[in-house]
Amino acid sequence: GPRVGVLALQGDVREHAQVLTALGARVDLVRRPEELDLVEGLVIPGGESSVMDKLARMFGLAEPLKAAIAGGLPVYGTCAGLIMLADTVLDAIAGQQSLGGIDVAVRRNAFGSQNQSFETDLVIPVLGEAPMHAAFIRGPVVESVGPAATALAGLDDGRVVAVEQGNLLGTSFHPEITGDHRFHEYFLEKVRARAAR
Ligand code: GLN
Repeated sequence: GPRVGVLALQGDVREHAQVLTALGARVDLVRRPEELDLVEGLVIPGGESSVMDKLARMFGLAEPLKAAIAGGLPVYGTCAGLIMLADTVLDAIAGQQSLGGIDVAVRRNAFGSQNQSFETDLVIPVLGEAPMHAAFIRGPVVESVGPAATALAGLDDGRVVAVEQGNLLGTSFHPEITGDHRFHEYFLEKVRARAAR
């Protein structure tokens, strides 16, 4: 299987590693630039984006990650991972930076206290007709989608919660914890396609 990294600075690293392994990938935990060089795709997990950003810069990973993204490495970010991939972050904490790559503005913790965490069924056309059960845990909302990015799914009220731009994917929710692996499969197709070139 393809060699896929999970950015292992902070967050729900283990859940992603388990899903990717179940789908036949060889999983590497990535904490250092040398480890990033070895992988054919990367998942950025959920967690706390401001902490992940700080650690990425502290460990000298932020610039190598930006270079890998610019070079076309397939990267899938869930929740905090989506925030890391967004070109613009609204309600960021002071000094918080993102890696960028996806032409969207996301708003952190956008669902309000009553609805910060909830589950719902989402239709995601690129994954087929069957809705995906989606868990939101203090997730971001995609407030605007720029011309380079594509919305893949939205809530009933139209708010966008899944996006794609070339080899980059992001979801506000956490498919790594609900047992439906179609989003990870969709990501692995990009990894395999690029590795086969
Ligand atoms: N609220 C977190 C952040 O801003 C994201 C939460 C999550 O990843 N589950 O980074």
